[in-house]
Amino acid sequence: MRHKPFIPGRRLDRRTFLKASGVLGAAGAGLLPGASTVRAAETEIAAGEEIRRSICDMCCIGRCGIEVLVKEGRATRVQPFRDYPRGPICVKGQSILLQLYHPDRLQYPMKRTNPKGSARAAWQRISWDEALDTIAERLDGIRRKYGAEKVLFYAGDPKDAVRPNLQRLALKFGSPNYGTESSVCHRATVLATSLNGAGSAGLTPDTRAVILWAQNPAWAMACEMERLVQAKERGVKIIDVDPRLAPTTKLADIHLQLRPGTDGALALGMARVIINEGLYDEDFVRDWTRGFEDFRDYVQQFTPEKVETITGVAAGKLVAAARMYASNLPTGWITSAASTVHHWNGCQNHRAISAMTALTGTVAVPGMEPSIPPLSFRDITDWKTLLPPLRDKRADLKDFPVWEQFVQEIQVNRLPEYVGEGTLRAGLFVGCNYRMWPQDHLYSKAIRDMEFAAGADFWLTPTMELMDIALPAATSLERLGPIAIAERTVFLPQPVVRPIGEARGDMEWMWDLAKHMGMGADFWNGDILATLDWQLEPLGIQAADLMKEPKGMVIPPGKPQSGKPGFKTPSGKFELKSAVLEKAGFDGLPVYREPPEGPVAAPQMAGKYPLIFNTGSREPMYTHSRHRNNPRLRELQPDPKVDIHPIDARARGIQQGEDAVVETSAGGITVKANITHLAQPGVVHVYHGWPQADVNTITARTLDPISGFPAFKSQLCQVRKA
Ligand code: SF4
Repeated sequence: MRHKPFIPGRRLDRRTFLKASGVLGAAGAGLLPGASTVRAAETEIAAGEEIRRSICDMCCIGRCGIEVLVKEGRATRVQPFRDYPRGPICVKGQSILLQLYHPDRLQYPMKRTNPKGSARAAWQRISWDEALDTIAERLDGIRRKYGAEKVLFYAGDPKDAVRPNLQRLALKFGSPNYGTESSVCHRATVLATSLNGAGSAGLTPDTRAVILWAQNPAWAMACEMERLVQAKERGVKIIDVDPRLAPTTKLADIHLQLRPGTDGALALGMARVIINEGLYDEDFVRDWTRGFEDFRDYVQQFTPEKVETITGVAAGKLVAAARMYASNLPTGWITSAASTVHHWNGCQNHRAISAMTALTGTVAVPGMEPSIPPLSFRDITDWKTLLPPLRDKRADLKDFPVWEQFVQEIQVNRLPEYVGEGTLRAGLFVGCNYRMWPQDHLYSKAIRDMEFAAGADFWLTPTMELMDIALPAATSLERLGPIAIAERTVFLPQPVVRPIGEARGDMEWMWDLAKHMGMGADFWNGDILATLDWQLEPLGIQAADLMKEPKGMVIPPGKPQSGKPGFKTPSGKFELKSAVLEKAGFDGLPVYREPPEGPVAAPQMAGKYPLIFNTGSREPMYTHSRHRNNPRLRELQPDPKVDIHPIDARARGIQQGEDAVVETSAGGITVKANITHLAQPGVVHVYHGWPQADVNTITARTLDPISGFPAFKSQLCQVRKA
């Protein structure tokens, strides 16, 4: 088989690529090599090599198709999956084999042989049967003694192979206390738009203006970057809202560089311009919004001049951005998974941003126009049936009543309290990382204090060191499934190579655990293919047929369907004033409130800690704490760092690359100084996920009262030379 050579970096045509490169270079920070993506191209196939196809799981958002060249049972190279709708692959995907064959992979089930709390866990290899028997017996003991709801089932990252399966296991076991890392990532943005009634159409072929709100796809979502560059080329107006001068910023027509945490004020100020200048869609607002008059009255206080004093964005720029957005219909907005909601007032801020979609009438009314439902398979969790009878036993019921109404998994961020008071006593943790939480020592202690904890992962991570039983998880290249859908392609990944050691796919071991728990009948008696057949039934296909299609099956769209027009809100309208929030005792309007630990609300504290401390954003080579042990990726960014503006570095006598101490009221960590115009003067960014400089030892445990999300991006700090 002969193909053309494979050229890394050829995702964009030359013109576009050069343009993008110039864009990114000029951004000051530049696009690190880690952000490069590769597109499917023809390649040389060596004798004895064959191509096998799978899905990349090196991050939590991409699900890009990946082709693996395999020789004599060993994976040798990777490349993008030609013709698959999700891709190209980024540098993490390109480095997946270094994860697969890493010598530190956890290969066998282990049981702990020394007490929890010892300096290092001691382990003994055991069989899968012994491991699953132990887990089944201990969890059943907790259930009989205290109740099934005392067991937490927790899914971290990777997600797709774990989440639905684990939730089914939890609910069939009898516990509603299934939680995920979405307690600190993404779900609050969904909650905010659900309270309003709708999100954004994003970027479509018709879009003429788009707001990138705290979103830097060049680093965080490389697979989306090309679409954005193409949109720019066809004249789409781009408004970038970001405290940083991020690589993507250079695509923007207008950059609104706001103070972190003031997003709500900026959005309300833009809404005021749109309303007062008559740029809003009167028909849509009259027919399909709730609370417009109150909203209109509320935003009057957010004059451009006042918003400038709050956000730091020049009044003229705000007005220009609002006019640009509302005059180039249809509009869209794209936001990061969590940046807007990593603030104490994050949910309301995000609602204010979302409100602009309704003002411009560019949000589709569900059911109004016949539409083709997205391709989907049967939901294995069965939560709609299984969860309601268990609702009263949710651990988060009292703390986060709004979240509880919208999210079928618990808000886990009060785990230390739940363990401390005996609400949760044991846990099954898959891909968990306690370092994702603010004041993370409280969370590691909570897991350690549980009467029993078991975990599954690729490695014996610091979180796995807290477990009684450790299970070796298979990577996406070693397991069957889960079913993947990209646009109208349905694809069933099959193992590309044999698993390392005794690693097993998540569905495989969970289904086996269900049998050990005496619940086999609810889990197809461990038969994975039968399970997949059940899931695929609505699509009219069977797993065995799908497995014969190496590139998946394209399912043609059916007839468009229509329903009763209306949003899924109590009023059936887009709620500028949320009835759910009012009923729960919160403001129904998307009110703006200052970050409690900020220069305005806490000026005395700002005297001691004059810089705004921002953490949680992505780098192109890492997914949160993952991949620090991947040599190729580590080479791209070897050290923890703080991005600091040259003015702030100079004032502190700090040189590029020197050690610097970042201090908050909670403590300090030492990182390398990265002096860059990417940072805004007065704002520093500290990257997360580094064990030797764990940023979550110095973040405050300030939670948004609606979503429960931590305020990772609007604390105060000082930076000094180490
Ligand atoms: S964006 Fe990168 S890491 Fe994520 S799935 Fe795609 S190739 Fe993998």
